[in-house]
Amino acid sequence: MKKSKRVVVVGSSNTDMIVNVERIPAPGETILGGEFSMAAGGKGANQAVAVARIGGDASLVARVGDDTFGNQAIENFRKDGIDVSQVKIDESEASGVALINVAASGENSISVASGANSKLSENDVEAAAAAIESAGAVLTQLETPLETVERLVRLSKEKGVPLILNPAPARALSDELLKDVAVITPNESEAEILTGIKVIDVSTAKQAAASLREKGVGVVIITLGAKGAYVSCEDHEQLIEGFPVEPIDTTAAGDTFNGAFASEMAKGELSILDMIRFANAAAAMSVTRAGAQPSIPRRGEVERFLKSGKIEEMR
Ligand code: ADP
Repeated sequence: MKKSKRVVVVGSSNTDMIVNVERIPAPGETILGGEFSMAAGGKGANQAVAVARIGGDASLVARVGDDTFGNQAIENFRKDGIDVSQVKIDESEASGVALINVAASGENSISVASGANSKLSENDVEAAAAAIESAGAVLTQLETPLETVERLVRLSKEKGVPLILNPAPARALSDELLKDVAVITPNESEAEILTGIKVIDVSTAKQAAASLREKGVGVVIITLGAKGAYVSCEDHEQLIEGFPVEPIDTTAAGDTFNGAFASEMAKGELSILDMIRFANAAAAMSVTRAGAQPSIPRRGEVERFLKSGKIEEMR
């Protein structure tokens, strides 16, 4: 089947309900005076939004509940131009929700009800087989059941479509799974959980990357926050420096990085080093803006930033 430049993103969709409060309440305690805000989130949804804004062609495979949050999420995906034909409405579970308390000190406490995300199944992956087969790349994370991720990894391998695994939230993974992953993109703490090697600098990133490559992963990209990203693959072994910016809110930096990288990988026009440089630029822009999905830049903005080194005000 002819490959397109489309990225199929398989993952979670949540609604984040955030209360900014003086301090995190202790068990049994009620604290008045908080300020409430609500935002679309979930790593799958954030990364699909990043692909749509930066690459242009995104399909999302996900589950939401038959409720206001689910319908709102689908509406937002449509507005971003995401193909939602594989977003299923689950009759038995509520939409995924994260209840987030943020204290004045910046500390937070988060309870997540995965709801419909926990029902994203191997069958859902199989139902998306035709879309996966014709895609330029597949992108997934670990906020949905592991069996679903395993099925997706095997299916992508069978169809010859490169799969990018953003192993977040952190958990250990089997060698059986890792051997079929084309690209893995852990941050420092995820790399440590995967390899047992504490990643604090370029030399420890190199060791952790080598350990993942030994397990058969084709390309290892360890994101290192403001420092940028370390890549290890057949032809390269190096740090690709991040862009110096004034960070305001690093939420969704990793999601923006992954969405931008996956878009470029599906297009296949740049070298791997330039794909990572582009992803560093998009992610750097996202940390200069508040929020998760609202902070994700559009392609034109990233291209102008790469040319001028200046970030435009958000419209
Ligand atoms: P995560 O958000 O998943 O924890 P990182 O903190 O490693 O992941 O950030 C992902 C990417 O976002 C980095 O590789 C880098 O490109 C960019 N980034 C993150 N923080 C900054 C920052 N303070 N300045 C510039 N770029 C950043």
